[in-house]
Amino acid sequence: MSRIAASPKRAKKAAANKKTSQKTAAAAAPETAAPHLSFDTLCIQGGYDPKVSEPRILPIVQSTTYKYDDIDHVNRIMTLQAFGHKYSRTSNPTVAGFEARMNLLEGGAAAVATASGQAANLLAVVSIVRAGDHILSTSQLYGGTFTLFNATLKKFGIEASFFDPDAPKAEIEKLIRPKTRLIFGETIGNPGLAILDFDKLAGIARKHGIPFIVDNSLATAWLCQPLRHGANIVTYSATKYIDGHATSIGGAVIDGGNFDWTDGKFPDFTTPDPTYNGVIYTESFPQTAFLIKARAQFLRDFGGCLSPMNAFLFNLGLETLHLRMPRHGDNAHALADFLEKHPKVAWINYPGLNAAGKKRIEKYFRHKNGSGILTFGIKGDLDTVRRFVKHLKVAALVVHIADARTGVLHPATSTHAQLNEKQCLAAGITPDMIRVSVGTEDIADLIADFDQALDAA
Ligand SMILES: *Cc1c(COP(=O)(O)O)cnc(C)c1O
Repeated sequence: MSRIAASPKRAKKAAANKKTSQKTAAAAAPETAAPHLSFDTLCIQGGYDPKVSEPRILPIVQSTTYKYDDIDHVNRIMTLQAFGHKYSRTSNPTVAGFEARMNLLEGGAAAVATASGQAANLLAVVSIVRAGDHILSTSQLYGGTFTLFNATLKKFGIEASFFDPDAPKAEIEKLIRPKTRLIFGETIGNPGLAILDFDKLAGIARKHGIPFIVDNSLATAWLCQPLRHGANIVTYSATKYIDGHATSIGGAVIDGGNFDWTDGKFPDFTTPDPTYNGVIYTESFPQTAFLIKARAQFLRDFGGCLSPMNAFLFNLGLETLHLRMPRHGDNAHALADFLEKHPKVAWINYPGLNAAGKKRIEKYFRHKNGSGILTFGIKGDLDTVRRFVKHLKVAALVVHIADARTGVLHPATSTHAQLNEKQCLAAGITPDMIRVSVGTEDIADLIADFDQALDAA
């Protein structure tokens, strides 16, 4: 197996600081390809750099286990003093290739892959908080994330407060408590589709010395790199546009390496971890304390790791990300333009269409584009929704979003059925809302399909 990329930043740091190189090595795999390469090239070649006669394609290493020469080597790996795979619950060469590519695309310090997007958000949060702590999150959240924060984490003694992402800064700050340990938001809220006001939230996080976590699933790094706009940690459901073809469930967490954990609020980072011979994460891994701790503790104990097969498929998905995302965006924009003029459509929501969304796209996005997700309101009642969905032929009724095939969903009766009306409205969901995940089919076929289904509704 060839070299698997670590962050170029980390590698540089490790090289510059020979004294700590032994310890830093536990995080950093050997140096790799080319931070100077463009985003599109990194989509295809980033993170895996084969040597002569090795596979050009990132291989699937379907192995739980790895071989060593002596017990001292194993000991160094097990105590985080040397880098190396030990057991595929905590790392695997194929998964590491996917992690390295995700890290390069986001411009992070290190990344870890997870079994799902839910596992990614859980990992990001529980690696920071403990019972008694409080988290602050936007209310425009993926339904599963809202339930995790609002119901399940509560059972473990972690409280959450939610704010309207467009509320004034002072109003959001009022929700900060002495025990608040992080702020959470989604680049494009699912399914409210509001684009995050990065400056406002990053400003609050900085002022209060807490990390800012951003779920980038709907935008992807092709559209937006949250670490460049004040985020400290980026999370993903790779199930969405990273996979792009609806084949696999998975996720990822990227550590920006840009947060100072040493100001006293985060003792788990700055005091010895007895489960690893007393390692102190911020001392041994100054730039990637969060990521190393997340991998070493969460994957070890909670076990939410990604399989090599799914890592292989996600890696393949990334190789066309830069080709698929513009098509998703162009198709969604054209379908939104069509729906906006249709007499049976009450309203339409797509990030580029309103002035506020347009401004944020210009400020924070790498392309003047709005992803493939749009929502609209249909004139009529629940039966109208039923008839419309029944008559679609190209688009299908699915719960999933963000793959090559166009899909529709009625959130109020499905993904958000567990929320009451007030919570639904806070999440941006109205009873007449239809969510469309616009695929990469020919736009003429999609418009004709929606046209006939609206007529039949
Ligand atoms: C789908 C999704 C998740 C959950 O991801 P899974 O891979 O389904 O577990 C989290 N956040 C957002 C924004 C999502 O769209």
